[in-house]
Amino acid sequence: MVTAKVRAVDGADQPFQAMTIERRDLDTQDVLIEIKFAGICHSDIHTARGEWGPVNYPLVPGHEIAGIVTAVGSEVTKYKIGDRVGVGCMVDSCRECANCKKGEEQYCHKGNVPTYAGVDKYGQPTQGGYASHIVVTEDFVLGIPDNISLEHAAPLLCAGITTYSPLRTWNAGPGKKVAVVGLGGLGHMAVKIAHAMGSEVTVLSQSLSKKDDGLKFGADHYYATSNPETFQNLAGTFDLIINTVSAKIDIDAYISLLALDGTIVNVGAPAEPLSLNVFSLISQRRSFAGSMIGGIRETQEMLDFCAEHNIVPEIEIISADQIDEAYERVLASDVRYRFVIDTSTL
Ligand SMILES: [Zn+2]
Ligand SMILES: [Zn+2]
Repeated sequence: MVTAKVRAVDGADQPFQAMTIERRDLDTQDVLIEIKFAGICHSDIHTARGEWGPVNYPLVPGHEIAGIVTAVGSEVTKYKIGDRVGVGCMVDSCRECANCKKGEEQYCHKGNVPTYAGVDKYGQPTQGGYASHIVVTEDFVLGIPDNISLEHAAPLLCAGITTYSPLRTWNAGPGKKVAVVGLGGLGHMAVKIAHAMGSEVTVLSQSLSKKDDGLKFGADHYYATSNPETFQNLAGTFDLIINTVSAKIDIDAYISLLALDGTIVNVGAPAEPLSLNVFSLISQRRSFAGSMIGGIRETQEMLDFCAEHNIVPEIEIISADQIDEAYERVLASDVRYRFVIDTSTL
């Protein structure tokens, strides 16, 4: 077994502390990864604080993981020692159900095995990427293209795929008008990717405070949702809206911005139920949809797409001692645009 240095919380209201955990011995298809960088995702905060249901403590969050392969099991064929690799939001699935067979392991009928706060096939709790090492079965490990640095690759494994997958699924591309609600960790990736796919991109943000950034990331237009005229002027405009905001919003107001056959996709997950007026949908054959990360094949496709189009997230690298402070800054929307932990500081 490998003893990993980690940062963990020991309760919903506890600060992070340095600990060690044991990673399992390598099974025949396992890869041992020395983690170099781990992104901080809003989901980490919800989970660590027990806001998405009870979790077992101590908990090591982190599902935006980038590092180097340092050992491989006897039957591993995809990776070798020294390879630059990543791990995202899941580390296994049943591999037998219809969705797994389609390569949509995130929607596994038996539930995918999340990278942290889950239970693996050995019956052990999974612990995430705020750690020096992790052991993952090779089929759930991604290859990081040469021209993407490890620190930039980390946020792509959640924020990147979470936005890439719905953009692909609902055919963002030339001639399509795409709006992105919220310019945070997810939103800024959605803008960059939708722009690279050739769509006309609009940011809908509470204020215009990040307008210069939004335009720099590839947005063609930028509007403040605090201004009621925005909703009047843009009514019936968009083919696709990606809603990255995980707070409760007036969903009918956003649905009214969709063109005929338009779709609004939620990728953020508010804790409380949303309500909507079905007339908003039927009056223009609109759809209200949701999307969760992406399958392993699509995640690799996203990494290769980002490499080809020179897309990387905007990041702020922090040390392990700054995680608590970073959480508060994420909650205050005071991050441009993703915190990434340098795990050499664990
Ligand atoms: Zn995430
Ligand atoms: Zn399955």
